[in-house]
Amino acid sequence: MIQAPKSQEKITTRCCIVGGGPAGMMLGFLLARSGVEVVVLEKHKDFLRDFRGDTIHPSTLELLVELGLLDEFLQLPHQELRTVQATVEGKTIPIADFAHLPTHCKFIAFMPQWDFLNFLADKAKQYPTFHLHLETEATDLIEENKQIVGVKAITPDGELTIRADLVVGTDGRKSIIREKAGLSVQDFGVPVDVLWTRIPKDPALGEMSLGYFKSGQFMVLIDRHDYFQCGYIIPKGQYESIKERGIVALQDNIRKLAPFVNDYVKELKTWDQISLLTVKIDRLRQWYRPGLLCIGDAAHAMSPAGGVGVNMGVQDAVATANQLTAALQKGGVGIDQLARVQRRRQWPVRVIQTGQIFVHKRLINASVVKPAVIPPFILWLFRQVPFIRRLPAYLIGVGPRPEHIRTK
Ligand SMILES: Cc1cc2nc3c(=O)[nH]c(=O)nc-3n(C[C@H](O)[C@H](O)[C@H](O)COP(=O)(O)OP(=O)(O)OC[C@H]3O[C@@H](n4cnc5c(N)ncnc54)[C@H](O)[C@@H]3O)c2cc1C
Repeated sequence: MIQAPKSQEKITTRCCIVGGGPAGMMLGFLLARSGVEVVVLEKHKDFLRDFRGDTIHPSTLELLVELGLLDEFLQLPHQELRTVQATVEGKTIPIADFAHLPTHCKFIAFMPQWDFLNFLADKAKQYPTFHLHLETEATDLIEENKQIVGVKAITPDGELTIRADLVVGTDGRKSIIREKAGLSVQDFGVPVDVLWTRIPKDPALGEMSLGYFKSGQFMVLIDRHDYFQCGYIIPKGQYESIKERGIVALQDNIRKLAPFVNDYVKELKTWDQISLLTVKIDRLRQWYRPGLLCIGDAAHAMSPAGGVGVNMGVQDAVATANQLTAALQKGGVGIDQLARVQRRRQWPVRVIQTGQIFVHKRLINASVVKPAVIPPFILWLFRQVPFIRRLPAYLIGVGPRPEHIRTK
């Protein structure tokens, strides 16, 4: 028997944002700060989830400077990464040096993403026009005369209908909003996935490199003070066979890549401690329809390569606020204005995704799908010519066409 919903609530707002990730929360905060009535829907009951990017890059920190929030933000527990190194067949190669970036902060801040999202939520809640609905999952779009006019959602109390002048899909890589809107996706196919886990450690054991390549294997290890966040790359579809080989075989592989994890890796005792994260790179051909815009991973799923997805989502949010706030303060948003957001952000996204596809094809895929072959010339160049490390530092730390806060 189908149970009738407990209630059927209706809300009307100017902008309904679906998804309380970095893109959605930043956009919600900026619009509310400018007096725009905004409702953010987040399907989970809080932000306390693992498997999210935990990197806040210099370009995002620069936005916090512009918002006057940086000092308060940096009071939250975090680590600062000023250079990026990789260890290739046991040799350490410096890859990026953030010292020369044209930003106030010359480091990547590592911070649990829930702290970042809670920080944005706390700031946004200071504005009466901001409304965050947790445990509210968007299930469909409402369309009238070929115009999107709202969202249907489900909450623990029943159904919720939100009518809005603009719906923004920031619901990530598996976006239901883009699917329901029928927006066409270009998939670039990435033949790897990630085993995501934590290896507890003594805080005194400091690290080292970020990426480890050895004998056809690749792993990312992020020093998070009392644990390493470990991303062990596997060929797509191989999870079950890796499981069959047993946890001890995985421990051995991790130890071979990073011998200093030594006994700590024995703390990985069961597969419950390990999550399989699927890696994707895709992009919408058109990010909008009348009454609807997608940004962040919902418009362009980013791979973890370079750890830039959070910051791309934040940059999209700032560009969206810059382009649309004035119109939203008055009423609806025209299709030309939505197209302008895509035009502004498409090029930076394309540059970064092209870089990620290159890294996957030439380095990561080559490393885990076929035996690793990184041209020795490239390694030599990075070791011997410090200047060259500024390019990856800029691409990772700032990225092409960085956005600035233009709204009040
Ligand atoms: C393994 C892995 C590691 C990564 N590591 C990094 C990293 O270190 N640094 C980095 O910058 N990027 C990293 N990325 C990429 C990064 O996670 C994404 O690019 C980034 O999170 C995109 O932000 P977003 O706000 O667009 O979407 P998301 O962060 O995916 O947020 C979407 C939000 O929408 C909510 N939602 C989904 N569906 C609905 C619905 N129907 N109704 C309501 N809410 C909904 C979700 O719960 C979520 O909170 C990584 C990606 C992967 C796969």
